[in-house]
Amino acid sequence: MNEIYFDSAATTPVRKEVVAAMQPFYNELFANPASSHLAGQSAAGKLEDAREKIADFLGAAKAEEIVFTAGGTEADNLALKGVALAYQNQGKHIITSAIEHHAVLNSCKFLEKYLGFEVTYLPVDKNGFVSPADLKSAIRADTILISIMLANNEIGTIQPIQRLADLASQANVLFHTDAVQAAGQLNFSVKELGVDLLTIAGHKFNGPKGVGALYVRKGIKLVPQMSGGSQERKRRAGTVNLPAVIGMAKAAELVQNELTAKINYLTELNQYFLAEIEKLADLAEIKLNGPEPGINRLPANINLSFKDLAGEAILFNLSLKNIAAAAGSACASGSLSMSHVLEAINLESVFAEGTIRFSLSINNNKKDIDFLVEELTTIIKRLKNLNNI
Ligand SMILES: *Cc1c(COP(=O)(O)O)cnc(C)c1O
Repeated sequence: MNEIYFDSAATTPVRKEVVAAMQPFYNELFANPASSHLAGQSAAGKLEDAREKIADFLGAAKAEEIVFTAGGTEADNLALKGVALAYQNQGKHIITSAIEHHAVLNSCKFLEKYLGFEVTYLPVDKNGFVSPADLKSAIRADTILISIMLANNEIGTIQPIQRLADLASQANVLFHTDAVQAAGQLNFSVKELGVDLLTIAGHKFNGPKGVGALYVRKGIKLVPQMSGGSQERKRRAGTVNLPAVIGMAKAAELVQNELTAKINYLTELNQYFLAEIEKLADLAEIKLNGPEPGINRLPANINLSFKDLAGEAILFNLSLKNIAAAAGSACASGSLSMSHVLEAINLESVFAEGTIRFSLSINNNKKDIDFLVEELTTIIKRLKNLNNI
């Protein structure tokens, strides 16, 4: 089984160096970092080394600004709910965008539904960009938090976070960004971005699943979302998943050293992909969703709409050839539910229904793309015959 994997935005394989780094922490170095005995203190030392590495990876000034969590979803929840609860006496208004990951959007919905917060969901333009002017006019006296993602997981849009965070800081409002897709694919630092909180997840950059981190600028209060012990300086109770944290730190170190080469490789592969897709223009009208390739788009992301074709049918046929990609819209029991991102960019349904996200990795090469395009040619012809168009 030789799978061609174009779904790195969903998850990535754990690198063998990462597995090797994690291994000892399941056996010899199994101790709980909260234990006071020698083995525990040694584990605590390793935990703090990993925290230093993640702080360095994100450009944080202090290691203690990093809180380890059980993934990106938990870090987003901690950022949104933790800040909302800690600052609610200063106001109960939050601003986010319409195209956030559900970890952010549904945390906002939770705060609206159960805790009486008001949330403004900023619209985006046809390429998925939030307008700084819109953000500025949405800020109110009772706004306590703004959460806008660094890079979008469906259409690859990289937001002008520096400008947006600057507007927040001028208004004395905290700014969180979900950088889960950006980490390991973009060169950024929390300092340059000027953000107060930032989320990452290990499994999106060749680390293990179920581990993430939240950067919390020193001085910012958070109400913990887990009640329990005093781990993570009372910001996240529960015994930390040390092997996973070690793995994430190793993955961060590796990608940090290779980032420029990785970005160059993905950029070139992305260009080749799009040039090859052009060759299908006679067969079907194909639209690239999201920003033009370049500085404002994730180099791994390609989101295509095949006009008048069903994305699910194309995906199914690709999977028969062992090619993995992701749907842009989910077709549930015959009724099509458009992804909130495609809806927010106002994509017409003739395009939206035929949307597929391909996400590249350094494990892909031009041959994979040649094979994909060959298979797509056959699949599109067949589906058009079935549709009689
Ligand atoms: C994957 C992802 C998450 C969720 O991270 P998990 O570790 O899978 O919980 C959050 N935000 C974005 C943008 C993502 O791509």
